Amino acid sequence: MNTTNIYNDTNTIATSTTKLTATSKVSSKGKSVLNNGEVALVGSGPGDAELLTIRAMRFIEQAEIAIYDRLVSDEILALLPDNCERFYVGKEQAKHCVPQDRINEILVEEARLGKKVLRLKGGDPFIFGRGGEEAEYMLQHGVSCHICPGITAASGCTTYAGIPLTHRGVAQGCTFITGHIQNNGQLNLPWQSLSCETQTVVFYMGINTLPKITEKLVAHGRDINTPAALIRKGTQPEQRTYRGTIGNLAELVEQHNITPPTLIVIGDVVNQLTEQQLSTPGFLDANNYVQSVSEKIA
Ligand code: SAH
Repeated sequence: MNTTNIYNDTNTIATSTTKLTATSKVSSKGKSVLNNGEVALVGSGPGDAELLTIRAMRFIEQAEIAIYDRLVSDEILALLPDNCERFYVGKEQAKHCVPQDRINEILVEEARLGKKVLRLKGGDPFIFGRGGEEAEYMLQHGVSCHICPGITAASGCTTYAGIPLTHRGVAQGCTFITGHIQNNGQLNLPWQSLSCETQTVVFYMGINTLPKITEKLVAHGRDINTPAALIRKGTQPEQRTYRGTIGNLAELVEQHNITPPTLIVIGDVVNQLTEQQLSTPGFLDANNYVQSVSEKIA
């Protein structure tokens, strides 16, 4: 059971020399043209601005108003043009700052004013992001929108934490699933299929239901000693990775007072690379190489 901060003082993501600017060269050309009265529904990734796509960057630079969520990092907001209006509609678990219906209306209203509207969402807009609902509403109301994927948290956070989601001979597949409680107060998930040992499972929005998640997985046959990790604020300077097993994850949450946004990762891949190798974000240091468990067995 270890706690790792993969960042150190000299290796924060946005140092003055690496900071992106809204005038970067990539933005001057391309097909991502945002016209007046249109919306760009853009995924901003898990936080590190260097994980933005070029297409996302192009839309950011053209925005006249940005309507954004809580998960969009300050580093990315800093890339908005100086004259761009900012409209925060952030949500915290079960507590919507602006209800979803109202967000939909705001998007249409701002587009109808003839603005170039940027709808900026954490991760990918179509993965647990309600982007599909927003797009449908806009289309129903005659507003066209560009759609732009972002790196989803499960991919960005695990990679930065040195956890490969699949690995030959260890995990043949991977499932992204919500741990958010349903309206009926239940967490009805396909537990049987999530309990297959050669599959990595990543839970979004699961930190508050974690005891239920681990209990159900074990009840459906997943080994209680299966490696597991919690990644909080992945790819951001505050990223923390907590490694353990299904059996002690709930304890880790209490012990470290872990709050959202946090991902839960279940599967043998958690221990595929050792954390000593991660001396800087997204960099595996050969000087600290230690054989992985599966290599030792082979
Ligand atoms: N559309 C987003 C997910 C939004 S749901 C995406 O594709 O990533 C919100 C949940 O995503 C959080 O509760 C958390 O489980 C996860 N999440 C998003 N960003 C995260 C981050 N930087 N670090 C850890 N978890 C994150």
